[in-house]
Amino acid sequence: MIRSQQEVAGLTCPSCGEAFQAPLWLIVDAGERPDLREAILAGTLHAATCPHCGAQGTITAPLLYHDPAEERLIAALPLTIGRPEDARAIVSDLRDRLLAAIPRAQRGAYLGTVELAAELDGLRLLLRPPEVVDTSSSKFQEALEELVAAESSEQFRDVLVRHRGLLMDSDCDAALEELIDGLRSAGDWEAARRVADQRALLARFRAALNERRRVLLDLLDRLAPLQDAEVAILGPLRQMLEAVDHQEVYAARLQLTPDQHIIADRLIERLRLFAQAEQIEEVDAYLAAIQR
Ligand SMILES: [Zn+2]
Repeated sequence: MIRSQQEVAGLTCPSCGEAFQAPLWLIVDAGERPDLREAILAGTLHAATCPHCGAQGTITAPLLYHDPAEERLIAALPLTIGRPEDARAIVSDLRDRLLAAIPRAQRGAYLGTVELAAELDGLRLLLRPPEVVDTSSSKFQEALEELVAAESSEQFRDVLVRHRGLLMDSDCDAALEELIDGLRSAGDWEAARRVADQRALLARFRAALNERRRVLLDLLDRLAPLQDAEVAILGPLRQMLEAVDHQEVYAARLQLTPDQHIIADRLIERLRLFAQAEQIEEVDAYLAAIQR
């Protein structure tokens, strides 16, 4: 039975306002359709073109991804779905559709757990094998160029978040140093100084992030002994504490039930009390930001 499923969605073009229809994938089974897995990785799965004006865009819609070989089930949910109960209803509906296409005898126990991702971008990050940072790769060079071109701290942060796998790596620092040396040898002092500034900014960001993570995990240890219900949410809570940006916090939150949100917020509140008692303001501010 065919596991991957699509439907035809009625859309309104945001550019010209005309209505049109486009196919939309609801379920992608990577075993059956490796081409769709590639489309997810390439960011083209939900690309649509308006037949009236030619405007191109990406449709935002929930997607369930199934990889039988890797025994993975992942739901990519739009950030516009704010309420956990809505998210759960969508995930359970999509999973029921998938299960209906899999004979009972073939349904592995792993199908009981759905990982959550924020948007197709989040899914893409989960599917990508852990990046071995090849500083000569075009991706890395691209990330580096974007970083160097960033003109404001907002742009800088944005580049950092998008390429965090590459840029948070210590090899990146060595590559930047090499780049600076190259610019100096070529006599381009102005550019060399700019890149040196970015390198320092990046190093500060990396150090601050690592320090914040270290302090938070330290404080987390001090919450012991935890009750069973609290232990049950440690995984998502840790993800929230170690997040680089709000999308990661969001994806972690989606894994919690309403009761678990309350438990998580209570634990965060206790962490804040520790942080306040020790006057670690940066950590307290971060905790305040990830509280609901
Ligand atoms: Zn249009």
